[in-house]
Amino acid sequence: MTAAIHELMDFDEVLEKFDPVMGLEVHVELATETKMFSTSSAHFGAEPNSNVDPVSLGLPGALPVVNAKGVEWAIKIGLALNCTIAESSRFARKNYFYPDQPKGYQISQYDEPIAYNGYLDIVLDDGTEWRVEIERSHMEEDTGKLTHVGGQSGRIHGATTSLVDCNRAGVPLIEIVTKPIEGAGARAPEIARAYVTALRELVAALGVSDARMDQGSMRVDSNLSLRPIGQEEFGTRTETKNINSLKSVEQAVRYEMMRQAAAIVNGEEIVQETRHYQELDGSTRKGRPKESAEDYRYFNDPDLPPVIAPKEWVEEIRATLPELPWIRRARIQAEWGLGDAEMRDLVNVGALNAIIDTVEEGATPDEARAWWGNYIAAKARETDTELSAMPITPAHVARVIALVKEGKLTTKLGRQAVDGVLAGEGDVDEVIAARGLEVVRDDGAIEAAVDEALAANPGIVEKYRAGNTKVTGAIVGAVMKATRGKADPAQVNKLIAEKLA
Ligand code: ADP
Ligand code: MG
Repeated sequence: MTAAIHELMDFDEVLEKFDPVMGLEVHVELATETKMFSTSSAHFGAEPNSNVDPVSLGLPGALPVVNAKGVEWAIKIGLALNCTIAESSRFARKNYFYPDQPKGYQISQYDEPIAYNGYLDIVLDDGTEWRVEIERSHMEEDTGKLTHVGGQSGRIHGATTSLVDCNRAGVPLIEIVTKPIEGAGARAPEIARAYVTALRELVAALGVSDARMDQGSMRVDSNLSLRPIGQEEFGTRTETKNINSLKSVEQAVRYEMMRQAAAIVNGEEIVQETRHYQELDGSTRKGRPKESAEDYRYFNDPDLPPVIAPKEWVEEIRATLPELPWIRRARIQAEWGLGDAEMRDLVNVGALNAIIDTVEEGATPDEARAWWGNYIAAKARETDTELSAMPITPAHVARVIALVKEGKLTTKLGRQAVDGVLAGEGDVDEVIAARGLEVVRDDGAIEAAVDEALAANPGIVEKYRAGNTKVTGAIVGAVMKATRGKADPAQVNKLIAEKLA
């Protein structure tokens, strides 16, 4: 444990004495094919140092060329965040040395960002809305990645070797910076989580990033300061880095509130510094003192011309914006007449988008909910996979639903068809053909099986004729067995009733 309990102030006590001010900086890696200023692949997971080129390695004389897709997607994000899009913006050099950045500077944007002055309306757990104001959303490039070997849990401290992988160097990055969030009080931690959640959902819906916090394609730094209640002037902030889950975003803010409050009442001065979030115990640990903007010696990058975004182009991009996730959710909830709790369940199992898409493929909302929310969700849990990552599409599920409705599959056979698709045996019709799943429609074969089952179970026939019509389960079971599960139970029941009438 880095901090003993007495070094933290009780959360409620913090709120009696202090007012938190928070600022969130979120980095989003764009899922473009190539890097921001060169033609190497920008994809994650390749062999170390295989996605590199003279530009991303910073070799002398190599010149950057701007990735148009990267600019388009930066504008798309800016528009979705209700920002003003600059008709002309600039790239600047942020100068600092680090081994994962061979050029000695990072290309970023400084005083002329491509998007600024926006906002994102988020919904908190109790349903109230909160507007997070956006200062800027600018383009930059990612750095490489260092792997420290020989120390504890991959940290540089105590390491014997450090490895540099430049695959990520130059991958397009968007940095979204909020204005100071004031007046949040006790809700500051919740707002931080809800904001990052909404942002993640937003960029995923825009199709510009996979926004995976676990893989580093979405990264959050949280700035926090406290000021005594009633004081207008902001206190000194710390900036917590290394936050890699939504839960941790909330905890990092909460922890800093409790830590800073305890330090202030102890007479310690808060220094502007970066801190590192500790996944193990939810604390933050002192990092380096924070550089100020002057230390970076920003200047316009002479290798790159201004980025010009004509109004017509911006409007074209605006027209491609999809329905925003929370607006889509509200619309669906109203259209399908779902209660808040039901809606939350769907969102929580991660099934909502799949269900909506399945309905768009022709299923009814109830059918789509039943298949995704029950059978496929259970399979996902069994294999510890996120529902959205299951290898089955809404079109597959809609096809199964249609075949069940037409009576060509029973629910049970439909599940087997789903199993086949999940096992990679092909699409629904291919699985049905290969596994021989279609319902037996041949009345003759079913009738013969019913006759046989009745003849083999005279006791049941007798009970039935004596008025106990609930005893037919064993007969149906025998018919199902004889037809290897392919008879339609409704048809079997009807035949039994006819024969025994
Ligand atoms: P830096 O380059 O130092 O990271 P940025 O301007 O990129 O600075 O981001 C700072 C973030 O912290 C912004 O979200 C800003 O709103 C917020 N912020 C600025 N001052 C304070 C403060 N005193 N307390 C809390 N947050 C602050
Ligand atoms: Mg910053």
